[in-house]
Amino acid sequence: MELKNKSIIVTGASSGIGAAAALLFAAEGAKVVLGARRSAEMETLAGQINQGNGRAVFLSGDVRDENYANALVDLAMREFGGLDGAFNNAGIVGEMGPVADMGIANWNDVVLVNLTSAFLAAKAQIPVMKKRGQGSIVFTSSFVGFSNGGMPGMGAYAASKAGLIGLVQSLASDHAADGVRVNSLLPGGTITPSGGEGNPAALDFIANLHPMKRMANAKEVAQAALFLLSDRSTFMTGSPMIVDGGISVRLT
Ligand code: NAP
Repeated sequence: MELKNKSIIVTGASSGIGAAAALLFAAEGAKVVLGARRSAEMETLAGQINQGNGRAVFLSGDVRDENYANALVDLAMREFGGLDGAFNNAGIVGEMGPVADMGIANWNDVVLVNLTSAFLAAKAQIPVMKKRGQGSIVFTSSFVGFSNGGMPGMGAYAASKAGLIGLVQSLASDHAADGVRVNSLLPGGTITPSGGEGNPAALDFIANLHPMKRMANAKEVAQAALFLLSDRSTFMTGSPMIVDGGISVRLT
């Protein structure tokens, strides 16, 4: 029980890595607050966790909205009496293609969902953690924000995920003395709806970019988030933790 009695927000919980993380964290004793826009998926997941002796509540909303970031924290405080951790994981790929052909609307949308949301989440989550002198926050970045790894047409996504690594380093240094740890997680290609699930040609292409010649399953990434949220990683802060099947060393 690596997260016994810890109250943890998980965004992007309606699908993929976030859903796998919510299940894993709950199985490890956490009380989870699920966030995403789609409520039906989260209702099913929360039901599954609650029936299996875990604790889960959910609130649907958009991570671009500052009120939603605050509401998730309020829900954790109200239902579980505090906030020990957050896995801010919601994200989108957006339209893929060369930057020169990309519209500003796509750029803005990707940056808002992947990066501005992190700023809003941190602003909502850090004060309550600081008050108690402890907390761990994990943001899902990507190998694409660090090494590209051979993925074409991902300018906005890469910029947003690289920005996240920088934001996390700054947050970590600003709040280490407050007892709040902040790390980013850089998954490699992972089999989820955003990761090409249902498109065998895309899965094959992405798998072959990895030295391991396969993609991760969502639980393998969730396990790394579990480590960063748990007391196994108490000396880690500001780290861009790479969990990518070697894709970032492929070109070196
Ligand atoms: P996914 O299955 O498509 O899940 C994305 C999640 O983000 C969904 O739960 C979605 O929920 C939520 N989301 C998207 N936009 C949102 C918004 N505006 N407000 C609230 N929630 C929103 O994809 P995934 O692969 O698990 O992605 C999870 C994270 O991992 C993302 O940050 C992604 O960039 C990152 N990542 C993925 C891979 C990969 O290969 N799959 C690799 C590296 C990093 P709703 O649609 O219900 O809102």
